[in-house]
Amino acid sequence: MKKEILDKGFIEVVDKLGSDLTVVNSARVSFGKRKTKFEEKDKILVQYLAENKHWSPFRHIIVQFHVKAPEFVMRQWYKHVVGIETSSSYPTKDHAWNEISGRYVPVQDFYYPAKWRKQSEDNKQASEGEIPEQETAHKILNDTMDYLNLQYNKLLELGVAKEQARIILPLNQFTEVYWTASFQAVMNFISLRDDSHAQWEIREYAIAMKEFMLELFPETTKIWLETIGK
Ligand SMILES: Cc1cc2nc3c(=O)[nH]c(=O)nc-3n(C[C@H](O)[C@H](O)[C@H](O)COP(=O)(O)OP(=O)(O)OC[C@H]3O[C@@H](n4cnc5c(N)ncnc54)[C@H](O)[C@@H]3O)c2cc1C
Repeated sequence: MKKEILDKGFIEVVDKLGSDLTVVNSARVSFGKRKTKFEEKDKILVQYLAENKHWSPFRHIIVQFHVKAPEFVMRQWYKHVVGIETSSSYPTKDHAWNEISGRYVPVQDFYYPAKWRKQSEDNKQASEGEIPEQETAHKILNDTMDYLNLQYNKLLELGVAKEQARIILPLNQFTEVYWTASFQAVMNFISLRDDSHAQWEIREYAIAMKEFMLELFPETTKIWLETIGK
């Protein structure tokens, strides 16, 4: 399960723990019950749990993603820090993150947007429409990247360590991460990032993620989206 995003990025489901039955059985353990088949009446239970904020059963579903995204997208992603159930006494319940290291691997891929968006007039952090001078903006980026790539490679040729040479590289450099999070955390990410207020680039990842969740956990995801929101 993989989708290409932006010009060189992607999001892929590497692994998952659980199914639609996981939420139902995690809740029913309270009564010492376990089911082997998801039935119509289980939908009512899942809806009840979501509506009443009984969210811990949703944290037994875990998904591991492999993401390749520009650094400026990942900086927004890094802000999602709560997400994986560890144990009730564990002081932090954070996502599992691992990332490619620019100390080991030279940075090679950079994001070149297909279109340049216009600064929004009423929302300081947003964009709206496109600027008319597309070619000029493309040229500015192309020239900048040609220069920076040349200089970066010159530093490497001089024997400068990769960890230091990379300091001249911009935020459009692609990075790769493994991100493992609970169903609840993934849906929180989708609700915030598949939203008109979110930046277009991260929204593309959130939209793909939502499609994956609907495919992997169709009943749970559908009920969550209907009950808690997009
Ligand atoms: C459109 C948009 C614009 C943004 N702009 C900025 C910006 O300009 N600058 C900036 O720094 N960030 C910005 N953010 C990031 C934002 O502030 C959040 O850090 C980010 O969206 C992560 O959301 P979260 O806290 O729900 O996620 P998580 O950290 O994964 O938290 C998940 C949930 O856990 C609960 N939770 C987390 N921490 C606590 C806590 N300490 N106490 C109690 N409950 C907790 C909350 O219910 C939270 O929703 C922006 C986000 C969006 C979507």
